[in-house]
Amino acid sequence: MELLSHSGQPLDLIVVGGGAAGYMGAVTAAAEGCCSVLVLEATNKPLEKVQRSGGGRCNVTHACWEPEQLAANYPRGSRPLRGPFSRFAVADSVAWFADHGVPLVEEADGRMFPLANSSSVVVSCLKQAAKKAGVHILTKKAVTSLKYQGQKGFLVGCRDGSLFEAKKVLLATGGHPSGRYLAASLGHKIEQPVPSLFTLSLDAPFICACPGIALDNVCLILEASGQSFKEMGRVLITHWGLSGPATLRLTAFAARSLHLAGYQTELIVNWLGNSSRETVHSLLNSFRYKHATRTMGVVKPFSTFPKRFWIALLEQAECDPKKKWADFSRYSQNKLAETIVSSKYFINGRGPFGEEFVTAGGVMLGEVNLSNMESRKITGLYFAGEILDIDGVTGGFNFQHCWSSGWLAGKAIIK
Ligand SMILES: Cc1cc2nc3c(=O)[nH]c(=O)nc-3n(C[C@H](O)[C@H](O)[C@H](O)COP(=O)(O)OP(=O)(O)OC[C@H]3O[C@@H](n4cnc5c(N)ncnc54)[C@H](O)[C@@H]3O)c2cc1C
Repeated sequence: MELLSHSGQPLDLIVVGGGAAGYMGAVTAAAEGCCSVLVLEATNKPLEKVQRSGGGRCNVTHACWEPEQLAANYPRGSRPLRGPFSRFAVADSVAWFADHGVPLVEEADGRMFPLANSSSVVVSCLKQAAKKAGVHILTKKAVTSLKYQGQKGFLVGCRDGSLFEAKKVLLATGGHPSGRYLAASLGHKIEQPVPSLFTLSLDAPFICACPGIALDNVCLILEASGQSFKEMGRVLITHWGLSGPATLRLTAFAARSLHLAGYQTELIVNWLGNSSRETVHSLLNSFRYKHATRTMGVVKPFSTFPKRFWIALLEQAECDPKKKWADFSRYSQNKLAETIVSSKYFINGRGPFGEEFVTAGGVMLGEVNLSNMESRKITGLYFAGEILDIDGVTGGFNFQHCWSSGWLAGKAIIK
């Protein structure tokens, strides 16, 4: 058995998983005075997701300063996170990274990135902080068993046969099934994991024929498994359907319902946000008289629609773009207005994942004390990061939850 502490005594803390949450937990615990902290990482690349995150720039957090407002960005965990966020939230992350030599900057949409604009600086920062705090990191140590020995702490077994003893354990294995298995082996209930933050694959041939077009202020509505979801914002048209922030937010909030519905349901799109049929009708009425001699596909009444997209909408509404506005029938006008404010497309599955991908589901929150991330079932067992049944929308919220939960666990462990 490997003990790794100088005295031959069990280690103070073993962190299972060398990701964002695990590093934050380990560094905080060590900095608080935990003498022997060991991180066991299954792969040979700790912090791999941080490295790949945000398209290689790492969207560290989001400029959302109020705990309640911040918590609203978590489809799972929204209410329970208000407490933890009142102790460690965005301003604390910003200060933590600045103190460790990584100033963050805010982009126009609120996302926060390192000033150096590279995820490598975040990875180096966490690795250096761990080194400075005296945290040991062992790679290629996939933990396969976790045994609770009461007062004596935990026996942690790895796939290669090595065995470690620790007084406390922090499980921070992200969305990997092995972590959920370890938690379940100690009696924790697991909310079934399902994907979140994916794009939508649609039966929408006209729209999909104009990939690359981004539109702001689009309203998306879907109903799945008896629940309805609505999002408004920027969408990106792709050759398979829809992506962009509003789509990702919609699939995050509807993740579980969509999973239950087999990712097959109807999506209603108002391409003009909240505009009503009546508003669109009156716009079309005045436009057709004003531009009677002009061609419908050439002069368009909606300046925010790019031409390619406008023609796709006309074709979807069975209006010939080559016709003059004077020949635009009442029937066609009804059909076009309907297409603009209430296009119905069939969702035929998940599209590829966006830049970010997380698992919804994990260790059920009712069995964890979220003020210190300790298990309510097993003394000395802690959780942080994506292993918990908490996930955020895209934009830096998922890392924020890792920093918060890792920090809270690290602070509590020394006590
Ligand atoms: C491509 C991509 C880009 C993303 N970009 C962003 C972004 O810019 N901003 C943002 O907020 N979120 C982003 N996310 C989400 C974010 O990466 C995750 O929410 C976050 O990494 C979760 O951190 P974690 O520490 O809980 O888990 P992870 O980062 O997954 O770390 C868990 C670690 O545990 C290890 N492990 C698992 N099982 C075991 C075991 N049994 N024994 C030992 N080790 C084990 C894994 O190898 C891994 O290293 C992105 C996700 C992806 C996939």
